[in-house]
Amino acid sequence: MATDLVVVGRGPAGLLLSSLAVQAGAAVSVVADGLGTLPLWGGQWDFRSYDTDGAPITDPYAWWRAREPHTSPPGVTRGWLAYWQHLAALWTEMGIAVNPPGPNNQWTVTPLGHLRPTYLAPSWQYTTDKPSPVIFVGVPGLTDFVPTAMARVYEWATGATAYTMMLETPPAWRETWNALNWAWFLDAPGGQEWLMRVLRGRSLPSEGPLLFPQILGVDHAQAFIAELAKTLSRRVAEVPLPPVSVGGIRVQRRWDRWLRHHAVPFISGRVHRAEPDQVVLADGRKVTARVVLATGGVLGGGLLVEADGTVRDAVTGVAVSFGEHDDLATVGYLETTGPIPVVGRMVKGWNPDQYGEGGAMILSTVHAVHQRLMRHSLETGTWR
Ligand SMILES: Cc1cc2nc3c(=O)[nH]c(=O)nc-3n(C[C@H](O)[C@H](O)[C@H](O)COP(=O)(O)OP(=O)(O)OC[C@H]3O[C@@H](n4cnc5c(N)ncnc54)[C@H](O)[C@@H]3O)c2cc1C
Repeated sequence: MATDLVVVGRGPAGLLLSSLAVQAGAAVSVVADGLGTLPLWGGQWDFRSYDTDGAPITDPYAWWRAREPHTSPPGVTRGWLAYWQHLAALWTEMGIAVNPPGPNNQWTVTPLGHLRPTYLAPSWQYTTDKPSPVIFVGVPGLTDFVPTAMARVYEWATGATAYTMMLETPPAWRETWNALNWAWFLDAPGGQEWLMRVLRGRSLPSEGPLLFPQILGVDHAQAFIAELAKTLSRRVAEVPLPPVSVGGIRVQRRWDRWLRHHAVPFISGRVHRAEPDQVVLADGRKVTARVVLATGGVLGGGLLVEADGTVRDAVTGVAVSFGEHDDLATVGYLETTGPIPVVGRMVKGWNPDQYGEGGAMILSTVHAVHQRLMRHSLETGTWR
């Protein structure tokens, strides 16, 4: 099989880079030993949610514009809007409805009832530019979503009313059901009919969207949410739950399907060795093509921490810089453009967990590498 580009890793960075390369006409293969982190998160892409003092940021464009280049992490871009618009268009093509990227962060609600900023979220997730009255709708057995506790926090944080409703259990329900069990149940016609019936029998508060835990289906969630909204004549949306996250699983499944549809093979296996134009898997298989590592840093298994504190690329064996002031959250390569380009969490200096900039990190590093690959391909007529 002739491949121009082999992307190691199928987390969000690997998926985005593969998509861009496919759109540019490259034949791409993806090699990975696991699914990556997308199924662990709700699916919303953060731009820059908090400043260095932990205060929420309203205008992330202004925040990034104000950074001096030398204080920005590697790969930071000036072309943000075009990148966000590309992601929104790509998702729409995959069947993930999303509002057009706006000038500001939106508020989303956490399962504790707090508000937090985010930038681009699938439309199944509740986001708003101004907190308003809401109705939290709970189901039995989900300890991560307790409407009465959420309502107390939400009212304290926003000053807006939060109503609560608890639903009964369907006949098929078992005490062991988690969010994913509920989501598969509600993905099927029987589950959807059950929920419609239950909601039609309830009288709803006069104001506010209905906010469910993120359980309203897997592959058919979008259509079901639209149908619920139409039937109940009000907005219906979800609050993402802690991992494993149904929202991230929905995004991953649609993204995988889109890539497969564009003839991208997913090769399962651990890469043991990489050179700029070849990877060798643990079982001896080789894939010969231009290589990019999207292996997720320390969290994703792409970087290994040795007993003496040295941090090494698990694939190439290269030691990456780990200065006195670094910590494991931010360790990585100083640049995206080494002999084997790296993207996503492999790049140093970003701190998505602290500042809410995971989506920006992926967009920025992936587009930087993609542009370099494109330039090379135009100059040489080949991707290698
Ligand atoms: C719990 C959680 C919640 C998050 N929430 C948000 C959020 O709300 N918003 C947001 O914007 N971001 C969020 N993030 C995203 C995070 O901040 C990073 O942006 C993201 O995890 C980095 O993705 P990545 O593609 O670089 O790596 P990963 O997703 O870690 O993917 C790494 C990939 O590399 C593969 N791999 C590694 N080594 C090898 C090898 N040797 N051979 C073969 N394959 C290999 C792995 O199997 C995997 O497929 C969250 C992350 C986590 C973990």
